[in-house]
Amino acid sequence: MKHLNFAKKISDLRENLNMTQSDFGKKLGVSNRAVSKWENEISYPSIDSIYKMCKLFNVNIEYFFSNIEEEREDNSKENTMPTIRELYKIGRGPSSSHTMGPEKACLMFKKKHPEADSFKVVLFGSLAQTGEGHRTDYAIEQAFLPKKVEIEFDCITKDLPHPNTLDIYAYENGVQCAFIRVCSVGGGQILIEGEKLVENENLYPLHKFSDMADYCREKNMRLWQYVEECEGEDIREFIALIWEEMKNSIKNGLNDSGNLPGKLNVQKKAQYLFRQQHMDESEQTRENRLVCSYAYAVSEQNACGEKIVTAPTCGASGVLPAVLYYIQQKRNFSDEDIYRALETAALIGNIVKTNASISGAECGCQAEVGTACAMASAALAELYNMSLEQIEYAAEIAIEHHLGLTCDPIYGLVQIPCIERNAVAAMRAINAVNLANFLTDSRKISFDLVVQTMYETGKDLSRHYRETSEGGLAKLYK
Ligand code: SF4
Repeated sequence: MKHLNFAKKISDLRENLNMTQSDFGKKLGVSNRAVSKWENEISYPSIDSIYKMCKLFNVNIEYFFSNIEEEREDNSKENTMPTIRELYKIGRGPSSSHTMGPEKACLMFKKKHPEADSFKVVLFGSLAQTGEGHRTDYAIEQAFLPKKVEIEFDCITKDLPHPNTLDIYAYENGVQCAFIRVCSVGGGQILIEGEKLVENENLYPLHKFSDMADYCREKNMRLWQYVEECEGEDIREFIALIWEEMKNSIKNGLNDSGNLPGKLNVQKKAQYLFRQQHMDESEQTRENRLVCSYAYAVSEQNACGEKIVTAPTCGASGVLPAVLYYIQQKRNFSDEDIYRALETAALIGNIVKTNASISGAECGCQAEVGTACAMASAALAELYNMSLEQIEYAAEIAIEHHLGLTCDPIYGLVQIPCIERNAVAAMRAINAVNLANFLTDSRKISFDLVVQTMYETGKDLSRHYRETSEGGLAKLYK
């Protein structure tokens, strides 16, 4: 039992809630000495106490019985770096686990059962509790169209294989003809009960930026060429599709108006920003306004549950397309140029994903929007044909100045601070490239070091600031 790190998990959670051992013991109906013993590994809590802790801390029981930290430490030495197809995913926002995963499961099930004329989906756990805010129901309805689907939110059932569980039923003439239980395990990935999770293949032999850069220098190649060497040439076809979808999200977002869904009543602003041209607008103001309008466009589409591309996540999906769309229009870069930039950006995102995290729930917003900003900076630097060192420096600056950035979305909606944050990060990506252009020779911090720092910082962040909506703006906004 010792390797599960019960003691550390309990004391970390208790300290995050600013509770003394005595207060904590009272909540659980045990003495402060009992808590002290758990935290010093002298004894272990009963199952009943563990259940109470799950409720109190709002964590799943898996948290106590998994050795996540140890696995992560091992993984940092032997992680796999899969295809960039796992990074850029086309699907419905605003959340890869709450919309993309369920959507994928429903589409797959519908395709497998063409005989069915109607469906029913029962959502459990977090999908039931926050599914409405995340528009899980909308994603499911869209997936089953034109067929009918009934959706149930079951917030009562607790005995679940995963916090994001859903049951899907198919009916033919009112009689059930098929059933699956699915877990949406994160990043849009799903696990079907009774079937094995397909592990991602390690496509990239090198995982650190420094190693890749050495390899590229030796072979006299650019980062996008390394991507194509690892992925195969047909990756271009995939990237072309990704760019089309990114552009569609911007165009759809610019054509949209009204309010975003959810009780915040946030007005959509992309179109407004796009059209607000002042007579004496400077070149710089125009650039900022347009870049922001594109970032808003994608992020608002994401918040509405419309189709977007994760880059690297749903919440941070506006940064990269905004920068690339703006620069393509301004400088007439060809689509082929943009594809190379997208491949470079994907490599940066993949390095962060492999060596640290791109999850707001794991490391805060620095991991999502910070990474998106680094991807956009690297993409832009590639378009400007900058050196490997300059690309690295641009990406490094972009993450460095997002370090410590918390994730605190109000009401759990991916709207405030998320949408505006995408716009700010897009402008910051352009600035990072400009700075890198001049100062690369004087830099002291490598990209690998800042990625490691981001991960360490993320692990030190209180859970209130890691997509729980329990701290920051989410707590103080009334
Ligand atoms: S604040 Fe949280 S939900 Fe919003 S973009 Fe950042 S990481 Fe994603």
